[in-house]
Order: sequence, then structure tokens, then C-alpha cells
Amino acid sequence: MNYDMPLYRPPSEGRSLIFQITLGCSWNKCLFCGMYKGKRFRVRPWEEIEKDITEMSWMMPDTRKVFLADGDPLGVDTGFLIRVLDLINEKFPRLERISTYAGPTNLMEKSLEELRELSERKLDVLYLGIETGNDALLKKICKGATADEIIEGSRKAIDAGLRMSTFIILGLGGVEGSFDHAKDSARVANAIDPQFLACLTLMLGQYEEIYEKKLMGGNFKLIDRLQSLQELRWFVEDLDVSDCKFGTEHASNYLPLNGRLPEDKERILEIIDRALKGGRSGMLRPEWLRGL
Ligand code: SF4
Repeated sequence: MNYDMPLYRPPSEGRSLIFQITLGCSWNKCLFCGMYKGKRFRVRPWEEIEKDITEMSWMMPDTRKVFLADGDPLGVDTGFLIRVLDLINEKFPRLERISTYAGPTNLMEKSLEELRELSERKLDVLYLGIETGNDALLKKICKGATADEIIEGSRKAIDAGLRMSTFIILGLGGVEGSFDHAKDSARVANAIDPQFLACLTLMLGQYEEIYEKKLMGGNFKLIDRLQSLQELRWFVEDLDVSDCKFGTEHASNYLPLNGRLPEDKERILEIIDRALKGGRSGMLRPEWLRGL
């Protein structure tokens, strides 16, 4: 099987067998995201997908976890997706779960019944970027969905039996929008009540200046690492979820943390406070290690 590069998957899918059902992202407009800017979106032909799945079932018959790529296979027609899931289930008898990225627009387009049919075929975890719960910011970054639509789509998926792995991006609102971004994102996370919640930190590298001046415009200024800790604090202190694995271990973050919410909330806040008080202490990941 040959992959059409670049190929992305969440860190937690490191042991999963990946099948590319689509190439690129059907939306592909988010300002902060360059993942699929060089790929035109298309659904791969059935014959190619069938060949990949069949070949890999000979090579890795004991596969338990499968991840569907690229950006948003949920954007594919449900009948086609069911055919793909049925074939994966048939070819891998020890299969435990299938996961994939999902965009909010995909979830809006699928009915509860359609999502149930996918869940019954072992589609289990959906990775969804909330990015921010702030509507003005969602519009500015061209996410293509409002906070209410993100909540509605995610709740529908959970009601259908799927598990949501959601994330927000620290720094997305810049210095000026930091507080509102944190508070609105916590409100949306609480309304979704996901099974997994993670934070990433905006990393733009060489595109920093273009992003600040040309794309976001006005007075937009990226936050620094202490401001990102403060933003994380504002976010976590408002979280009120029922049973959620929380983590900031992604390589883009300055302070790697993990725990279960709600039980570990106070411990997580204490660590953030210690890091904030310590200033530029050894608790924080050095700049050169971010993204590695
Ligand atoms: S929906 Fe996801 S993959 Fe597509 S452009 Fe936005 S962030 Fe990138």
C-alpha cells in the first residue's frame, strides 16, 4: 500500500493501521491550517480502497485499530462509508475500533441514524477540532461552523454512540482575544461533554508575520508562552465535564499535563499556577523542543 503524502494522524493513533479513504480536506479553508493546502480533495475510488484493505489484511491480519484518513472521511456519502467499514470488519476479524477526523460540517450533514449505522460498524472515536468556542473568531479563521453547530454536531455523534476526541488551539485569539477565546471554548467543551479533550498551541513558524498582519489583520498579536499558560488557566478553571480524559501533551504546548476531569481539575490548576509563578522556569518545554 502506498500513501499519498503528506499523511497526518493524531498522536494517539500511532499504533493504528491507516487507510486513506479521501485525500485532502473537503473544507480546506481554515486560516491556521496548512495540512492539506497542497492537496485537492477527492474521494478515492472504491477499487483502490478495496485493494489497500485486502492487501493489508494479508500482511497484518491481527490488526485491532484502524484510522481513516485524510482530513474528513465523514464527508463521504454514508452508503460508501458503510461499504468501507463493512469490508474492514470482514477482513480484520480481531478489529476493536475504527477512528477518523471529523469536521463540524460533516457532522451537521449526517443524521443521527446515519451516525448510528457507522457506530454499529465499529466506528468509535471522532477527532474534531473545536479550535475555539468564540463565534467571531470562528468566523475570522474561516472554520465554516458556528459554536452552536459544533456543539450540535458533536452531541449528535455522542448520542449515536460515538466518542468525541476534541481539541482547542491556545493562542488562536491572539493577545487581545485570549480571555474570550478561553472562556467561550470552555463553554463549548462543557456543552459537548466529550470523552477526550486536548489543547494544542498555535505554531506558525515562518508564516507568523503573514498570519499576524495579512490574515488576521488589525492589532492581532500572537501570545507568548506565559500568556499561553494564563489562557490555559482561564480555560481549565471553567471546565465542567462529566468524565473526560484531558491532556496538553501535544508537542506544540509549553506545559505538558494530563489527567481525568473532573477529579484531577484542582491538581491541574495547581500545576499551571506553579508554572505561572515560576515564570520562565524549567517546567516549560523549551522553544526548540516544541513541535518535535
Ligand atoms: S477542517 Fe481541519 S483539516 Fe480542514 S482546513 Fe480546517 S483544520 Fe485543516
